[in-house]
Amino acid sequence: MKRLFRKAAALGVAIAVAVTGTASAANLIRDAEIEATLGKLSAPIFRAAGLDPNSIELLILQDSSLNAFVFGGRNMVFHTGLLERLDRPEKLMGVMAHETGHIIGGHLTRRALNMQAMQGPLAVGLLLAALAGAAAGDAQVGVAGALGAESALRRSLLAYSRGEESSADQAGATYMEKAGIDPAYVLDVLKIFRGQEVFQAGNVDPYAISHPLSSERLALLEDRAARSRAKGESASADLVYWHARMRAKLSAFTDSPERTLAALDSAADPESEINLLRRAVALHRLPNPSGSLKAVEQLIALRPNDPYYWELKGQILFESGRGADAVEPYRRAVSLAPNEALIRGGLGRALLALNDPARDAEALATLEGAALAGASEPSMLRDLALAYARAGDDGKAALATAERYALTGQPRDALRHAHRALDQLPVGSPGWLRADDIRAVAERALSDK
Ligand SMILES: [Zn+2]
Repeated sequence: MKRLFRKAAALGVAIAVAVTGTASAANLIRDAEIEATLGKLSAPIFRAAGLDPNSIELLILQDSSLNAFVFGGRNMVFHTGLLERLDRPEKLMGVMAHETGHIIGGHLTRRALNMQAMQGPLAVGLLLAALAGAAAGDAQVGVAGALGAESALRRSLLAYSRGEESSADQAGATYMEKAGIDPAYVLDVLKIFRGQEVFQAGNVDPYAISHPLSSERLALLEDRAARSRAKGESASADLVYWHARMRAKLSAFTDSPERTLAALDSAADPESEINLLRRAVALHRLPNPSGSLKAVEQLIALRPNDPYYWELKGQILFESGRGADAVEPYRRAVSLAPNEALIRGGLGRALLALNDPARDAEALATLEGAALAGASEPSMLRDLALAYARAGDDGKAALATAERYALTGQPRDALRHAHRALDQLPVGSPGWLRADDIRAVAERALSDK
């Protein structure tokens, strides 16, 4: 699990999470396994709504409050608090279906950002910068703040109207039905927010503010669910399994390791697969590398062909200072899941860290492939820039660095490196065009300030 670091941000009732060893707060989390699980859960809902599942970006925000929202029309954002709290995959699918109802109903147009066309790293950077910029008194508002994303993000968290809520409920129930899931699960989610209808400062989840609950809304949905042809239908055992793993991994990475380990001590089945996963992650974070590796070996023995357990082993070894030993587990993970860009990024990072000129070409090819496949996050872009620099390709190194600064909402530095890339890359080449895009966005951000 990789975190995208930003300055401590506080957005409305959202909270900033301090990260040990840094002065930053972790905002967005990238993790191959969790993203894949969210993809498995959302795909049937998006298809039921007539949306291409690949057209919606699923983002995970490290925040213990309960919230999910749509950003820029094509990014669906989930707070870790919500992902951990919902104890059944159907409940999370219900939230996804409701948010999809807002997309399809066009309820977002009045909240739309003037950055709809932006994709990938830039969109993520804009979200991060908007979040950071929303923190009170933060003078260093990034690209997004300058582009107005901060106010747009605030708008996106404004309450939907009662009519919009009702229509999203009905559309969501239809998508649930088409996906073969009982819409009544949504009622369980809404009931969490009961009692939050009346605004009580500091004690209300953002979701309850942006999706106002009323007894009328509950009654309508209850009626709809009672008549549903999907009544009594649940998610497959496969979805239940991956959902449980997602919650275990998230809680082990976000709660204190001591708390996770204490809970495991009193668990009825401490050696279950899910509990072994919790133990592996908690021990890694203590840090207790040998204990963590023992747990991950038990997981691999249970599921020898699971790419994410091999990836976790690679991550534990790499982050414990055993980079050379991390290469083989990452290689195994890549061979089991060749389309997982973030895992390929991990392999590239481990290869690069060998500091062996004979392995640099492979490291560069691996990192390049990962970036092309969408694994761009700040630490990977830093590795990619280093790999290009070692290969003597200063133009592409500058481009990767410009992308990294765009991603973290630092337009001045993004612009400087974009110019370096433009000077060195062949005019009109894909890299040159990309650098020109970053230049344009960064210049706009700076001139709007
Ligand atoms: Zn809503």
